[in-house]
Amino acid sequence: MTADACDFLVIGAGVIGVSVARELRRRHHARILVVEKESAPGRHASGRNSGVLHAGVYYKAGTLKARLCVEGNRRMREYCRLKGIPVNDYGKVIVARSAAELPVLRELYARAQANGVHANLIDGQALRELEPCAKTVDQALQVKDTAVVNPQRIMEALVADAVQEGVEFRFSCLWQGRDGSEVAKTSQGRVAYGHLVNCAGLFADQVAHGFGVGSCYRILPFRGQFYRLRPESQVQVRGNIYPVPDLRNPFLGVHFTHRPEGEVTVGPSALPLLGREQYRGFAGANAQDSLAMIRYLIRLIGRNRDHFRSIAWKEIAKLSHTGFYREAEGLCIGLRKDDLLPGKEPGIRAQLVNIRTAELSSDFVIEQGPRSTHVLNAVSPAFTSSAPFAEYVVDTMKVDA
Ligand SMILES: Cc1cc2nc3c(=O)[nH]c(=O)nc-3n(C[C@H](O)[C@H](O)[C@H](O)COP(=O)(O)OP(=O)(O)OC[C@H]3O[C@@H](n4cnc5c(N)ncnc54)[C@H](O)[C@@H]3O)c2cc1C
Repeated sequence: MTADACDFLVIGAGVIGVSVARELRRRHHARILVVEKESAPGRHASGRNSGVLHAGVYYKAGTLKARLCVEGNRRMREYCRLKGIPVNDYGKVIVARSAAELPVLRELYARAQANGVHANLIDGQALRELEPCAKTVDQALQVKDTAVVNPQRIMEALVADAVQEGVEFRFSCLWQGRDGSEVAKTSQGRVAYGHLVNCAGLFADQVAHGFGVGSCYRILPFRGQFYRLRPESQVQVRGNIYPVPDLRNPFLGVHFTHRPEGEVTVGPSALPLLGREQYRGFAGANAQDSLAMIRYLIRLIGRNRDHFRSIAWKEIAKLSHTGFYREAEGLCIGLRKDDLLPGKEPGIRAQLVNIRTAELSSDFVIEQGPRSTHVLNAVSPAFTSSAPFAEYVVDTMKVDA
């Protein structure tokens, strides 16, 4: 059977796959084909995230995250303006729940300055003027460049632009492996390609392993559950209220986000899972995957790197409504337990783990293989960073003539 052919084959129609496909088309004017196993784009992390356009305060200067986030924030706001996509650009405040968190707050301020982000340390009075219901100890950090969008609206606009620019999409098309060199097996037949770009999110490690790439890495899925604030609640949130994070952990903690449509979401949690697409209960977990996840979790907990044990316990506590409420009430004055209603659909983070060192990777990871490029740790803020992230991926590609 003869194979269909393209110059670049992109696996995955999330924000990274679509952005990389557009960038490839812009540079090469070649045939670009995106294969996506779902029937529509953005069905996983890219359409189910918090929709926060991060400003770049959390990341150490010089990291890929710092560089790409600051630029990505500017470009995504501009894209929304051009496309008429609503944005809540009220900014955010990061609040301290105890005096012990103040040194970290100051460290975030120093990182913001190093990264060129508009941020100010403010006192309790200034905080009340910005976010009347936020509570803090002594000082808070105001971050002006943070904004909120509806991620589904962005995905729709990006895919429409990509199609108009000549990128081809094949939905309900699962990449199933390699069929010799430079030929892919898919659920809709064979596809010959010049170069493959793996943007498969939760499955990116498995695709990479098929090319002998990233053998020390595995993806560990973490589910983010959301609540929403009861519309009649006395608690008002104008922008975003975030806690001071534990900088040793990759997640930012439960936060309040005022969406452009008016709803206020509270979350997400970050529960380690046994299945890559385990959105509810045990659906989405299979025995083989679950055994592997249990092995990595035991190793991570055993080594207690990144205080993994305490992260896991805290996240298990958030499974209950009461546990989640306890986490959220530290940020806001007057929050009642019945203010938290079931929220939007959960999202799953594709967090990379180095199984040799038992460490969670903190920065973006991109590796090269035979006629292939593998995006392995497109975790937050990859949505914010997607435009310059895609340019970076294409810059690093070793494309054979
Ligand atoms: C709860 C949560 C909150 C977040 N909040 C933010 C935020 O506020 N701001 C921010 O910047 N980032 C945030 N992020 C991170 C952001 O969503 C991700 O970094 C980004 O969406 C990653 O995009 P992606 O294209 O790599 O992955 P995905 O969106 O997961 O796309 C990968 C695609 O590959 C497809 N695929 C997988 N395997 C195959 C196969 N074999 N064949 C064909 N197709 C395949 C999948 O179906 C999927 O559509 C959040 C993430 C989560 C989960």
